[in-house]
Amino acid sequence: MQQAEIAYIGLGSNLDNPVYQLKQALLKLENLPHSQLIKYSSFYHSPPMGSQNQPDFVNAVAKIKTQLPPIELLQVLHKIENQQGRVRTERWGPRTLDLDILLYGNQQFQDNILTLPHTGLYFRAFVLYPLYECEPELILPDGQRLQDVTQHCVKNGLVRMQNESKDAE
Ligand code: ATP
Ligand code: CA
Ligand code: CA
Repeated sequence: MQQAEIAYIGLGSNLDNPVYQLKQALLKLENLPHSQLIKYSSFYHSPPMGSQNQPDFVNAVAKIKTQLPPIELLQVLHKIENQQGRVRTERWGPRTLDLDILLYGNQQFQDNILTLPHTGLYFRAFVLYPLYECEPELILPDGQRLQDVTQHCVKNGLVRMQNESKDAE
């Protein structure tokens, strides 16, 4: 088993009680093999990307420490999405649960199934603001300060909801 790395997971849902979906997903992240859930952000409401003819999303970011290699982590996350009834239809369409690996240590990597950091990280408010809430001092793998990138990203209707956040650090 490899050395533990810090990874940040983006959670999103806009179907079948999104707050419940995120809470269920966080319970599963607490029980991820060879991993620990360290903390997670508040939940945020955000307007949908892609088709506007779908409900608003609820998003959050979780910080984990994991010994799973990135591809194995992606597979486990897909399994959790499937367990929560994810059906893949149109791109950026409605979904019960989306789990993206936003960052995995400082890895910068791209192949057919995995891109690190996640391609949306640098310009999606619903990813940047909850990540910043978790980790205000974070330096991104390209050397930029998360704070600077977040400040340059318009909120685009993003609203912080009730404080569900948890910090086990
Ligand atoms: P987006 O990736 O733009 O947020 P999406 O989350 O709706 O869109 P999905 O249908 O969930 O897209 O995923 C499509 C594919 O993206 C996945 O099968 C996975 O192989 C690939 N992928 C590439 N990089 C990542 C990453 N960092 N985290 C999660 N999936 C990734
Ligand atoms: Ca996504
Ligand atoms: Ca995804």
